Amino acid sequence: MARVALVTGGTRGIGEAISVTLKENGYNVVANYAGNAQAAEEFTKRTGIPAYKFDVGDFAACEEGIKKITADHGPIEVLVNNAGITRDTTINRMDPQQWVDVIQTNLTSCFNLSRLVIEHMREIGFGRIINIGSINGQAGQYGQVNYAAAKSGIHGFTKALAQEGAAKGITVNAIAPGYIDTDMVRAVPENVLEKIIAGIPVKRLGKPEEIADGVLFLAKDESGFITGSTLSINGGQHMY
Ligand code: NDP
Repeated sequence: MARVALVTGGTRGIGEAISVTLKENGYNVVANYAGNAQAAEEFTKRTGIPAYKFDVGDFAACEEGIKKITADHGPIEVLVNNAGITRDTTINRMDPQQWVDVIQTNLTSCFNLSRLVIEHMREIGFGRIINIGSINGQAGQYGQVNYAAAKSGIHGFTKALAQEGAAKGITVNAIAPGYIDTDMVRAVPENVLEKIIAGIPVKRLGKPEEIADGVLFLAKDESGFITGSTLSINGGQHMY
C-alpha cells in the first residue's frame, strides 16, 4: 500500500512541487492550504491531488483536518511541514500580530501536525517528518526577526523530535532552502532580488523541484539512517 503523505501548504510554490514529486514516486499524497481556494482547485485539477483547507497554526483546525484526511485516505506516514508565510518589517515597525502570525504559521504548525500524527507513527514503528526551514533561519535576515526566529526554531524542533523518534523508526529532518522562484520571492522588489541573486554562487534562484527532490530523498524508506539533520539547498549562498 502506498504511504500517505501530507504536504502542508502543498498547493502552491515549493509545496506544489513537493506534492507532485511525491505523487510521481508512488506516495498517496494529500495537500493542505490556508484559503486560496482558486489556487487549490486549479492544483487539484492539474495534479489529481486532493487539497484540504485548514489553518496549520490552529491546533483544533489541524485536529479536524487530520481526522478528515485519515478517514478519506488512512493514517499519515510522511508529514512535510512546508506551509509558511512572511510578514517582513524591521522590529521598530513590527506589530505583535505580525510576530504571532509568523510564529504560529511557520513554527507552531510543526508542533500541531507532528503531535497529531506521531502516535500512529510510533505504533507502526515508521514515520518521516520533514520540516521546511530557511536559509534566513540559519543566517538571520534584516526585516525578518519574526521569520528568522520561527525558522531557526524549526531547526531546534527538528533535532529534539529526531531524538524522540529515533528508537521508533521515525526520522525527523529539515531542509533549509535558499531563494527559490515562488510567489513568496516574487514579492521581493526587483532591485533587491537582483542583489540577492548576485550574492548566490550559482547565480540564479532555485527551482521548487530542487527542494522537492531533497524532500523525496529524506522521505524514502531507505533514508532511515538520516535523522536530526538539515539539508541546505541554496546554490552555495550560505555554506554550513
Ligand atoms: P508560497 O507563498 O508560494 O505558498 C505558501 C503555501 O502555504 C500556500 O499553499 C498557502 O496556502 C500555504 N499556507 C500559508 N499559510 C498557511 C496556513 N496558515 N495554513 C495552511 N496553509 C498555509 O510559499 P513558498 O512555496 O515560497 O514557501 C514554502 C515554504 O518554504 C515556506 O515554509 C517558506 O517559508 C519556505 N521557504 C521559501 C523560500 C523561497 O525562496 N520561496 C526560501 C526559504 C524557505 P494558500 O494558497 O491557501 O495561501
